[in-house]
Amino acid sequence: MAAPSHRRALRKRRTLVVSAAVVAAGAGAGVFVMNANATGADLYHQTLAAEDGWAASGTGTTGGAKADSAHTFTVSTRAQLVKALGSASDSTPRIIKVKGTVDANTDDSGRKLTCADYAKGTGYSLPAYLKAYDPATYGRSELPSGAQEKARAAAQGRQAENIVFKVPANTTIVGVPGTNAGILGGSLQVKNVDNVIIRNLLFSATEDCFPQWDPTDGDKGNWNSQYDAVTLRGATHVWVDHNSFTDAPHYDSATPDYYGRQYQVHDGDLDITNGSDLVTVERNQFTDHDKTMLIGSSDKDSTGKLRVSIHHNVWKGIVQRAPLARIGRIHVYNNLYDTTTVDGYAPLYSINSRAGAQVVAQANYWKVPSGGKVAALLSGDGTGSVAGSGNLVNGTVTDLVAVYNAASSKKIKTTVNWKPALTAGLESSAAGLPTELAATTGAGVLN
Ligand code: CA
Ligand code: CA
Repeated sequence: MAAPSHRRALRKRRTLVVSAAVVAAGAGAGVFVMNANATGADLYHQTLAAEDGWAASGTGTTGGAKADSAHTFTVSTRAQLVKALGSASDSTPRIIKVKGTVDANTDDSGRKLTCADYAKGTGYSLPAYLKAYDPATYGRSELPSGAQEKARAAAQGRQAENIVFKVPANTTIVGVPGTNAGILGGSLQVKNVDNVIIRNLLFSATEDCFPQWDPTDGDKGNWNSQYDAVTLRGATHVWVDHNSFTDAPHYDSATPDYYGRQYQVHDGDLDITNGSDLVTVERNQFTDHDKTMLIGSSDKDSTGKLRVSIHHNVWKGIVQRAPLARIGRIHVYNNLYDTTTVDGYAPLYSINSRAGAQVVAQANYWKVPSGGKVAALLSGDGTGSVAGSGNLVNGTVTDLVAVYNAASSKKIKTTVNWKPALTAGLESSAAGLPTELAATTGAGVLN
């Protein structure tokens, strides 16, 4: 933790930045509302501030700030977005301004594509798939194989080709204020590249038309889907700031059960896996979703990486993984967790620390409705750590790990092997977060 004198210095600097913005706004110059942690001339050229989380480490995160005019794009359709992204291996700095909603499930001429369009010609049909792999006849010991599974995979591949957007290195992708900017039904993939900024976007209804049945997943089998709204794989220096993530308008509660299991069409909101490193996730809203944020795809993901700062986010109406943390050094601070059930999304837990994860959870605020269990806010496999203090439950300082450990056989360790240093904007008290974050998080706040 920062020494008290250092904390005072941070608070002082933050105050100065905010007053400077007020002065600038009054003079009619560039306006930086609720944007104390960004630097740069305008929204499109802003870069991550010094010391703002792990993404500020080393060379920092500047995205496409150095883009020339030939690499500055405004996009409103899927085809325009694809063109602006260019080749995943072209690292020329680029700025992509998203104006309005880009609907990922459209063809190059802008025509809406349905699940049936992707399945056309593959031979896939859900009734035929359900008949082929019914546990009553197919059993539960083997993954689906054969004609229907092959057809499902082919149809899924066709959807993937359409809705997955590969983001190259040195890119800023940002929503144009006042346009309800966002990506509907799509998946931004940041894979094996460095230096990416994603801001001011609404990610909604990212859905897999072709979930796969895995009879061996868990005690009862599961339907699994592809496509996180944003997926980081082997990505470094990524700043994800002021976005909103939601399943709306298609909630899990409206999806049917097959084989007695929920037909899950969603995967993650923001998954950070495959050795991704140096990521700052800041002032986002995560609402109405089940598997929200995965850090590390397996217990063997990547030693020495997966360093992520998660701060000033709102998590509401989410079931689990806020985050599910594996292996890495993860700083979770000044977040608001509202564990009220919303739109049928009933919380399972907030933070899961497993596979030796070194989590510091500091000055977060949990709203727990009457009857809610504080012991259920954490989860773990007995190898993860959660250190940190100043966490509030309904306004009262609470040692979440002590409460969890008193009720669980898989104890969470309370010490970590690192000390957060990149903590610009850290507030030592969580008391004001419910009010502050209601007005300063998610897409549509920046201008
Ligand atoms: Ca999955
Ligand atoms: Ca995922």
